[in-house]
Amino acid sequence: MADLLIVGGGIMGLWAAVMADRAGLETVLVERDRIGAGASGGVLGALMPHMPDRWNAKKQFQFEALISLETEIAALEAETGLSAGYRRSGRIMPLAKPHLRTIALRHEQDALVNWRSGGRQFHWHVQDRFHDGGWLNADAAESGVVFDTLAARVAPRPFLAMLASHLRRSRHVRIEEGQAVVHIDPVAGRATFIDGSTLSFGACILANGVQAFPFIDELTKVPGVSGVPVKGQAALLQADIDPDLPVVFTDGLYVVAHENGLVAVGSTSENTFENAASTDGQLDDLLRQAAELVPLIRRAPVIERWAGLRPKAIGRDPMAGRHPDHPRIHALAGGFKISFGIAHRLASAVVGEIVGGTDQGLPSSFRCQTHIELLRKEAAK
Ligand SMILES: Cc1cc2nc3c(=O)[nH]c(=O)nc-3n(C[C@H](O)[C@H](O)[C@H](O)COP(=O)(O)OP(=O)(O)OC[C@H]3O[C@@H](n4cnc5c(N)ncnc54)[C@H](O)[C@@H]3O)c2cc1C
Repeated sequence: MADLLIVGGGIMGLWAAVMADRAGLETVLVERDRIGAGASGGVLGALMPHMPDRWNAKKQFQFEALISLETEIAALEAETGLSAGYRRSGRIMPLAKPHLRTIALRHEQDALVNWRSGGRQFHWHVQDRFHDGGWLNADAAESGVVFDTLAARVAPRPFLAMLASHLRRSRHVRIEEGQAVVHIDPVAGRATFIDGSTLSFGACILANGVQAFPFIDELTKVPGVSGVPVKGQAALLQADIDPDLPVVFTDGLYVVAHENGLVAVGSTSENTFENAASTDGQLDDLLRQAAELVPLIRRAPVIERWAGLRPKAIGRDPMAGRHPDHPRIHALAGGFKISFGIAHRLASAVVGEIVGGTDQGLPSSFRCQTHIELLRKEAAK
């Protein structure tokens, strides 16, 4: 018997385990393959804030998460002696047209109001150019650039390894890799594993990425799907660059400078695909665009091509919290493109709800219940 069963050893499941350990819950985390086998084990690791305009609860949640992540990581790095490859290196976005500069100037003012916390002010600076020669092609930035000082990056695999290392020393959490949940009885509180064994639990967190949706659908018993996979491809290059350079972002293309000269380029966004794990010409196109935008990486060899499936919930926002029909079952999924910046806060809210029984400050559009209501509405059409 476990107080808590966590299904999935990606960024969501690992943070859930960290929060459960802090709450003193006897916890088993099961991962069907190995830690980081899913979307979390990629290469990009951009921590990108939402736009600073039209502020709302969802943006505030992510803003606070992006700030607190820095402190969380620093504490875990100190404790484990491992590096998560985190740096608040900021982000630059080229402004190709004059009207984009006009909009960016408005956002500069919005950031002054909305991007403040505890005496810290983050900026959406509008500048004529970015000075680090060769990092951004000036031709792409005819109307200037935005330099955002809130964005950061983390190295996904070292980050997961650090969380796992912390958990392996914890008092309350046991990690079992190579163990897949195949069935959940939400009433009895019992999970059945692929090897036929079972585990009774007080609560269960479904943090198994794109595979969380079929579990939720099975429990919800409404026709339709609570979420879908969106494939993404990315690549890792070996360059000779300053790791402090900001993330370059434009039109879905990211170029992320990591430590030791590594540079990640991403990402495609594919709603239909035949092979979840393959990379193809779409990644070649992306690499060509990246080399055009960032001259410093033109001659950098590609050392890895990678693909993964992002979990996108029916309501597009993350799906977290108690299932409306099954009080023992909690979702922690649907982070889509922003999981790395918010997983710790989502996990804290979900574990808080398990321990305290009440809503823990999740924006309503994130709640599992809201997604299920949408599913029911779709089914009734
Ligand atoms: C190309 C690409 C680039 C991206 N870039 C960024 C980025 O820059 N910043 C960002 O924040 N996000 C980014 N994302 C999105 C991010 O990677 C995902 O949102 C995040 O990894 C999802 O984490 P997760 O823990 O929910 O799922 P996963 O990491 O997929 O973890 C789920 C785990 O559950 C396990 N599992 C599945 N079924 C079972 C079962 N039945 N029993 C036990 N275990 C099971 C899987 O093996 C897997 O390890 C990117 C995604 C892609 C594909």
